[in-house]
Amino acid sequence: MSSNFNPEDLYRSMNFQSNDDDYSDSIDSYNVQAPLPIIGNTFGKQLPLKSHHIPQYHLNTMPTESSMQLLENDVNDLFNSIQAPDLDRTNLVGDEYDDEDGPTIDKDFDTSHLIENNITEKKTDEVLQDHFVVVDSIDRNIDKYPNPFSYKVYFNAFDSNDANITRNFDRVKSVKLESAVLPINYYFLKRSLTLDVSDYLTVRYLEDVSRNEFFNLSSTDISGSFAVIDVIDTLNDTVFTRCIKFAVETTYPTAITKVYETSFTFDADGESLPIDVHDSNTVYSANVYEYSVQTFNLMENKYNLLYVDEFSYANEYSTNEAVKQSFSIMFPDCKNTHVYYTTSKFNDKSYKFNNLGHINKMTISIRDPTGTQLKNSYENYLDLIVPRTKTCQCGTDSDGYFVRDYRCACSYFRHPFYHHFQNTMVFKIQAYEINIDKKIFN
Ligand SMILES: [Zn+2]
Repeated sequence: MSSNFNPEDLYRSMNFQSNDDDYSDSIDSYNVQAPLPIIGNTFGKQLPLKSHHIPQYHLNTMPTESSMQLLENDVNDLFNSIQAPDLDRTNLVGDEYDDEDGPTIDKDFDTSHLIENNITEKKTDEVLQDHFVVVDSIDRNIDKYPNPFSYKVYFNAFDSNDANITRNFDRVKSVKLESAVLPINYYFLKRSLTLDVSDYLTVRYLEDVSRNEFFNLSSTDISGSFAVIDVIDTLNDTVFTRCIKFAVETTYPTAITKVYETSFTFDADGESLPIDVHDSNTVYSANVYEYSVQTFNLMENKYNLLYVDEFSYANEYSTNEAVKQSFSIMFPDCKNTHVYYTTSKFNDKSYKFNNLGHINKMTISIRDPTGTQLKNSYENYLDLIVPRTKTCQCGTDSDGYFVRDYRCACSYFRHPFYHHFQNTMVFKIQAYEINIDKKIFN
């Protein structure tokens, strides 16, 4: 529409006749049957405009209101004619439509005392409001959902540790996945290695105070420079277990792709650490485990699928069974170093009200094209002893160089909140809401 467009021009050449009945207030009821725009031969000949944009009944109507009010009513009626059938509450299934938290505006409120009364005679209007909801797997409850590709988001559930959106949504017309951010490398393996004797002595003498400090190994299986992630002693009755974790030294901010873990037990001195934890009572583990991020690239899948249990069978016309059960197809779009961005612009999803009147939770599952649940490892290899801090704890030295904390969520890929394994999704929820209907112009 050009900036020269004047909406009043629409009415100047028309031959109006009175027909007040066509202006009955159609907003007070959800069961609106507003006049449908009529695309007729006579209409098309009289106006060189797109005929379906203007309800035909105005051609025979004498304006008893200002031209601007008339236009305003037209716009509202046009919306009503499009949206009103979906607002019919009789279509709603009781269990899925919980109206307790819905808007409860008294539509008959008294406007006579207002100093500047710019509220229209209708007083209220129903608008289709867009809400953007951003969901991040880093906010999931990791005790319930260790896998970042599978978790629940609750709406308006303040007392839980789950991912939570601060409100729920009633009268929802559609939900769409606008975009998602997914990891590129997302999978790591665990395998057992051995250390040569001299290296084994090096590792088992690492102390807790040396976290983030470096040491060298030259075993057949493991060689190079390594940094201590953590040394943690856990008391179990009369025995301590010392768990030592270390990583390949990696320049910040390059992603670390290999970390190691070994543990051994030794007798406690009462409930305290013995002065020499490496005395003759010590039983040494023979195993060192290597965890290594694989180069599998999630972006190389032709697409990935988002399942949301509450909205299953959204792509119900797909020939593919896995797609048929999904909520959205996440097509790869562009990439950053560690993540890529998806688009789903081809499948905007509208739902019938009886499927989607109310949203109070979303059970999210991200899957490959065959419908197989994605996960970060064969079994759950998360390190749950690490401090569960979501934000980066790395610092800088006195010259301003970044200094990596090797157990930080930004660096340690067994951290439950490891940044490069998380996903973020942006949903657009369209819901009907009630506004006070104000005149913008006099
Ligand atoms: Zn960090």
